[in-house]
Amino acid sequence: MAFTLPSLPYELAALEPHIDARTMEIHHGKHHNAYVTNLNNAIANTLADGLSIEEICKNISQYSMPVRNNGGGHYNHSMFWQIMSPKGGGAPTGTLGDAITKTFGSFDAMKEKFAAAATTRFGSGWAWLIKNDAGELAICSTPNQDNPLMDIAEVRGTPLLGIDVWEHAYYLNYQNRRPDYIAAFWNVINWEEVARRGGM
Ligand code: MN
Repeated sequence: MAFTLPSLPYELAALEPHIDARTMEIHHGKHHNAYVTNLNNAIANTLADGLSIEEICKNISQYSMPVRNNGGGHYNHSMFWQIMSPKGGGAPTGTLGDAITKTFGSFDAMKEKFAAAATTRFGSGWAWLIKNDAGELAICSTPNQDNPLMDIAEVRGTPLLGIDVWEHAYYLNYQNRRPDYIAAFWNVINWEEVARRGGM
């Protein structure tokens, strides 16, 4: 029951000009693929073989660093491809839009807080919009390939939206300009998928 690399739900160039085709090709075909291969190698012939990636993340403190890094990498990237779309962008509506306004004051205020979390994450990692066990929205960030599902995370909850701020996610097109990449990300967010992940 090995994990497999999920297909992208759109063409490599579909997110241009915000995310370029070459970055997508390397990010999905090389980086994500390596996380899947290394995860499968790390769990081969162990009790983790056959568990879902969510189950592994939720009990990550019981696993080795290769499982944590590559299992997180597989979960995070599988989500990342889905929460973007060439038809994305705009503002969240419905229950999710209302929850964002109620929690952060406005969509713009939420964007500011999310961008700050993504910009100030030192080195490699991710910034997140999550829904916690109390059903509240929150913004946080994690280092490396950790995520808020993990039992070692400072802030825990279900990831609804995440941005990869590893340099491999933006360097070809944006070089050192991480804030420009974060600003462009809003143009490709698939808010329907974000809401679905939150059960909203
Ligand atoms: Mn990545």
